[in-house]
Amino acid sequence: MRIPLIAGNWKMNNTEKEAIAFVRVVMQRLDPNSDVEVLICPPFTSLSQLHKLLVSSQLLLGAQNISEKNSGAFTGEISGKMASEFCTHVILGHSERRAYYGETDDLINQKVKAAQKSGLIPMLCIGETLEEKDTGLATSVLTRQLKMGLKDVVCDDPSEMVIAYEPVWAIGTGRTAAAQDISELIARVIRPILAGIWGDKIADQIRVLYGGSVKPENAASFLNQSEIDGALVGGASLSTSDFIGIIEKAS
Ligand code: PEP
Repeated sequence: MRIPLIAGNWKMNNTEKEAIAFVRVVMQRLDPNSDVEVLICPPFTSLSQLHKLLVSSQLLLGAQNISEKNSGAFTGEISGKMASEFCTHVILGHSERRAYYGETDDLINQKVKAAQKSGLIPMLCIGETLEEKDTGLATSVLTRQLKMGLKDVVCDDPSEMVIAYEPVWAIGTGRTAAAQDISELIARVIRPILAGIWGDKIADQIRVLYGGSVKPENAASFLNQSEIDGALVGGASLSTSDFIGIIEKAS
């Protein structure tokens, strides 16, 4: 039984004040008996205050990135240990980090290990570009991203690893992949690779999320698919009503 997870990736949006106001609304409107895990990934600058606000709440906090290094002279970087003071999860390998900051599979692999070392749950993002999809390369790209991103990574507890399948052409574009195609791809490509690394039992229990233009109007079509265990939400996680609407669809 995989518990649904709805994660909001705020990217570079919301000041600390805006973040607090947003989270207050979500806390008021969340069903306390909901069986859905809800995670918010704000910018680093809001983590400390949100952590204080969420101490006795069911809302979880995640970071959007960490350094692959533990500490030292790395100006502008935040370590896993620092993030773990406030967060339970960290998004790694997001397509924007791959595309704009040159993050390679090898670097992402180091970050996954750094996250685990700090007690953070990595949410490894994978996904093909439109060009890769159109040239029939999607399966090989996903295979490479998973195998390299998870190289020598240990996973004994499936609740401590999350995979987010986010086709790059669906992120922030309003285009979505067909829900059934995603479910089939998870069953045909993603879970077998996880099984090859950690065995069937672990692979069956790891949550695989879909990300790419998820909104309240289309959320149910994804979340109703047996292989899709939740959503990583970008744009729609910036509106309290849209984000809550998606959480309600997952309940
Ligand atoms: C994302 O950035 O992870 C994402 C899925 O964005 P959006 O929901 O805006 O497509």
